[in-house]
Amino acid sequence: MPEIPTIALPGGEPMPVLGLGTWGMGEDASRAGQEADALRHGLDLGIRLIDTAEMYADGRAEQVTGAAMKGRRDDVFLVSKVLPGNASRAGTIAACERSLKNLGTDRIDLYLLHWRGPHPLAETLAGFEALMQAGKIRHWGVSNFDMEDCRELEQLAPGKVATNQVLYNLMRRGIEYDLLPWSRGRGVPVMAYSPIEQGRLLKYPALGKVAERYGATPAQIALAWLLRQPGIVAIPKAARTAHVEENLAALDIRLDSEDLALLDRAFPPPASARPLEML
Ligand code: NAP
Repeated sequence: MPEIPTIALPGGEPMPVLGLGTWGMGEDASRAGQEADALRHGLDLGIRLIDTAEMYADGRAEQVTGAAMKGRRDDVFLVSKVLPGNASRAGTIAACERSLKNLGTDRIDLYLLHWRGPHPLAETLAGFEALMQAGKIRHWGVSNFDMEDCRELEQLAPGKVATNQVLYNLMRRGIEYDLLPWSRGRGVPVMAYSPIEQGRLLKYPALGKVAERYGATPAQIALAWLLRQPGIVAIPKAARTAHVEENLAALDIRLDSEDLALLDRAFPPPASARPLEML
């Protein structure tokens, strides 16, 4: 299995470019064991980043993550998120404490504001800073932040944001116009969520065509297309161990200019600015 490359967080710490998503996990108690097994399998194979959130199944996806990390917390770069409605200064701290309990750990490696909400950003950042001081989170970042939000954030906390997690895949290329170059220019990693559009990408013939050239699957091509780009982390969710293995093997695929041209024809890059899309 391939070694997973890393990307530098602002400050220099490495973060893996491939992780394991958890949205949809913890919804059904009868599947939680299989979901934790899939995450554990990913860790066994060397996929060290897990992305979760207090929102997912009301904390039960965090519990599944906690079960998967049991006895091996140091193997994991753990990402979780505070809901916007909770993201006052005190609310952010309280939400993090709840997440730590669900996760069965004393620290979150990267804690994100899930999307912009009713609380002033400065309040959320004050909560993040207090959590950093207390050693309960090691880095903070944001999610679903469009250009205007990023500019505001830069004014408030220049050079501090560790990641912006956004919807990015072949069907959702709007960020290539502005947000992605802006983030790369500042050394802010962009974490691509729903990298296979929750499976909806897989039916497109262009992906199948490229996949045939490599004896690969459409999902692997969609991931290889993301993973070849500098500044990008992809976090596919897979509750099946076979999917986890397949997604990891996507790191071995090197798309060539012919593949990229074919994919550009099927999924054209943006020609003008577009509002950030969300799932
Ligand atoms: P996704 O990763 O694009 O797709 C997940 C779906 O694809 C699951 O049904 C999974 O099936 C299937 N799948 C995974 N690998 C596959 C493969 N190799 N071949 C075929 N099917 C495969 O969608 P997502 O869960 O929305 O996004 C990934 C993660 O990003 C989430 O889990 C979450 O952690 C994060 N996220 C963040 C936000 C945000 O607002 N910040 C929003 C959405 C998602 P199985 O589960 O059956 O294996």
